[in-house]
Amino acid sequence: MAEKDFLITLVAFYGPENAGVRYLSSALKKAGFKTEIIFFKDWKNNNLKPHSLKEEDLLLGRLRDTRPSLVGLSLISSFFELAGDLTPKFKALGLQVVWGGIHPTAFPEDCLKTADFVCLGEGEATLVELAQTLSQGRDPGSIRGLALNQDAKPKINPMRELIAELDSLELPDLNADNKFLIEDDKITPGEPILSGAEYRIYLSRGCPFSCSYCYNSILKQKYRGLGRYYRYRSVEHGLKELDLAKKLMPGLRRIKIDDDTAFCYGKAWLEEFVLKYPQRIGLPLECLLPPALLSEKLLEQLKGAGLVKVQIGIESGSQRSSREDYGRAAGNHKILQFSAWNQRLKLETVYDFIIDNPLSSWEDKKADIEFLLKLDRPFKVYLYSLVHFPGTVLSQRLLEDGKIKPSDLENASHKAWSQFRVDFSYPRPKDEIFYLSLLTLTSKDFIPKSWIRGWLNNPWLKKHPWPVLQLAKAANLIKMLGVAGEMWQNGELTWFKIKQYGNLKKMISQ
Ligand code: SF4
Repeated sequence: MAEKDFLITLVAFYGPENAGVRYLSSALKKAGFKTEIIFFKDWKNNNLKPHSLKEEDLLLGRLRDTRPSLVGLSLISSFFELAGDLTPKFKALGLQVVWGGIHPTAFPEDCLKTADFVCLGEGEATLVELAQTLSQGRDPGSIRGLALNQDAKPKINPMRELIAELDSLELPDLNADNKFLIEDDKITPGEPILSGAEYRIYLSRGCPFSCSYCYNSILKQKYRGLGRYYRYRSVEHGLKELDLAKKLMPGLRRIKIDDDTAFCYGKAWLEEFVLKYPQRIGLPLECLLPPALLSEKLLEQLKGAGLVKVQIGIESGSQRSSREDYGRAAGNHKILQFSAWNQRLKLETVYDFIIDNPLSSWEDKKADIEFLLKLDRPFKVYLYSLVHFPGTVLSQRLLEDGKIKPSDLENASHKAWSQFRVDFSYPRPKDEIFYLSLLTLTSKDFIPKSWIRGWLNNPWLKKHPWPVLQLAKAANLIKMLGVAGEMWQNGELTWFKIKQYGNLKKMISQ
């Protein structure tokens, strides 16, 4: 079959912002294939609902009408059961199905019980070779980076080398004419992110760090000996993508560099970026910065280029928990320095924190609150509930120590559906509610820090957290209304954002 007649439909679950499928689509198109991307369900923080029968019919109907030669599912562990439920239905239509993503890369044998093929690791080259092989009627059995069933047994081929030059990748596919979003019992054609006010870009792949709870702890092992793990794009390649986003997004107001470790790319890269970004793009910029990288000079340079908001991972205020549980490089002293510098720089600041760690003692929790109380306000705290992704170093350890059961792993529990960003509605013991309430209050400028310190050491409140909880909920509501007001003023309060965050019952804590 000619490439142009070979259609590959990529399906992304609960993630209209999924950049991975857009990269895959571009690579396939460059090789001459036709692609479609179906975003199956929207992401609504802590409130992911199973799809309806109507939505499933719409998905199956589209596949029946277009009859792709290959269907690719992009998934993390949270959607393992969903992929397992839908794949036999795709196969019943006579379609071949390939799975890719972190979970299939970590557990290919398991996935091959359902999928025809599993793409291991970075998918661009593997998927193109698979499409070429199938379109020419050849045997895909020896494709590197592919796992498949052969003679009724799983065959896991060696991983490919990591892509050495990220600039060799095509820009992500942002075309509107091959995208669909299935949500609210409707199928809507068009590229869903183009109506947003924010564009998220990734400038690197891999990570120089090795946090124990992160998917990078899985991929680093898989890719050992197969090239440099942490790579980044050139400034020019990144700016070309932003030029495209600016052209295609009429309501674009802000750029977010969504790499966990933005600007770990060296001095020359930074200098080129701060020179070119304001001239070429000139939009307010937001990024995540690793604590180890923080320096006053870097922040000044970035602010001069348009940086308005930084997100910094603290994850834990306890040195013990940071090092022993999370395997994080010591960096909290840099955050204290940042807080002092920021009195002058006045960058909007978000600190990321992880809670619900079964290894965390009351002393660790107290250290979390005491650390946040040392930081100058204003700031926001994004609280994340620890998700036990199977295969990470931390999940392995928790399983071995009997702190979690296999049913707590994300492929079985899909906790992230209801508790990814933390909210108060999730069931927790009283001392956890007390801890969460105090954590939430640390970022509320109108609550004196001395009150929080006093409550922290009050054993009665720890057993009876109701009054602190009510105060935390009320304070959080006030803060969230303020955030919504600011976004509205800046023209960033889009319908897309309201759907993701606007739920009074499951309002996330900041
Ligand atoms: S810094 Fe972020 S991306 Fe890197 S290993 Fe840690 S959690 Fe993962």
